[in-house]
Amino acid sequence: MRFKRASGSFWGLFAVAGFAILINSCSQQEVTQMASDPAVTISTVPSRIAITIDDLPYVMPSKTKPADGLQYAKTINMALRKHGIIATGFAIGQQINAETIPALQAFADAGHTIGNHSWSHPDYGTLTSAQFLEETRRTDQILDEWNDGPRYYRFPFLREGETEDTKAAATQILTELGYQNVPVTIDNDEWKFNADYLDAIEGSDTNAAAEIARQYVAHMQERTAHFQTLAREKLGGDVDHILLIHLNRINADHLATLLDWYAAQGWTFITVDVALTDPVYSRPDLYAGSRGLSQIERVIGRKSE
Ligand SMILES: [Zn+2]
Repeated sequence: MRFKRASGSFWGLFAVAGFAILINSCSQQEVTQMASDPAVTISTVPSRIAITIDDLPYVMPSKTKPADGLQYAKTINMALRKHGIIATGFAIGQQINAETIPALQAFADAGHTIGNHSWSHPDYGTLTSAQFLEETRRTDQILDEWNDGPRYYRFPFLREGETEDTKAAATQILTELGYQNVPVTIDNDEWKFNADYLDAIEGSDTNAAAEIARQYVAHMQERTAHFQTLAREKLGGDVDHILLIHLNRINADHLATLLDWYAAQGWTFITVDVALTDPVYSRPDLYAGSRGLSQIERVIGRKSE
């Protein structure tokens, strides 16, 4: 398959700095506090779930060797394939270049869908409509080589607008460009675990890495149970879920464990296009604000604990 190279090294450096700040802002203590009690056995009611993976080609390309990024993509592909999952990934336009394209291509070659995750991963709340249009259109042009199906969009940080006017402006632009927004029901801050996991690996602390991985899987299970319970209690029944994870090291190493857990709980894996037919994704978004929320929370109109 042919591909194009990204341009814009200035914006590349800008995003790298942003990611470094983002990652460094999380401490081990925060991760520990987020983790579930290991003594609690988490169980859920069998449901359906689509897997979405953000920040393709892979997280933190500035700190990741291209060979490692490619290996992350391949290992995640294997975990998905074991369960017959066709996932949807969301790519950051300015991070697509000659070094990172092999990872993106491996993901596409495995049959997964690639959607648009903006050009430079900005907070939509900081953008004008014109900037949002440019961010989306620029990545759309780059992704043209990989995109022959539906056009899917994922807002960076899940921030979809701080006022009804800005929400409507984004919707209009996405519609004009032929995009469908793909919300998330199971929101989880899983990237924070990855940051500490990388630190542990870098420090050759295998015990710490194993403990963070254990906490990570437990946290994802707890978040799944939380949002399922929220849907059942507040929306009158369960929904077809959409899970958000990132293309990073902790998922390369431990997504298989998480997917095995879903399967053992009796869950069925579906594609994003099937999930989006669930009425929950068509219900009015009652939240306008600076936070990134689960679709279930948006329908309810507020952040849950
Ligand atoms: Zn992202």
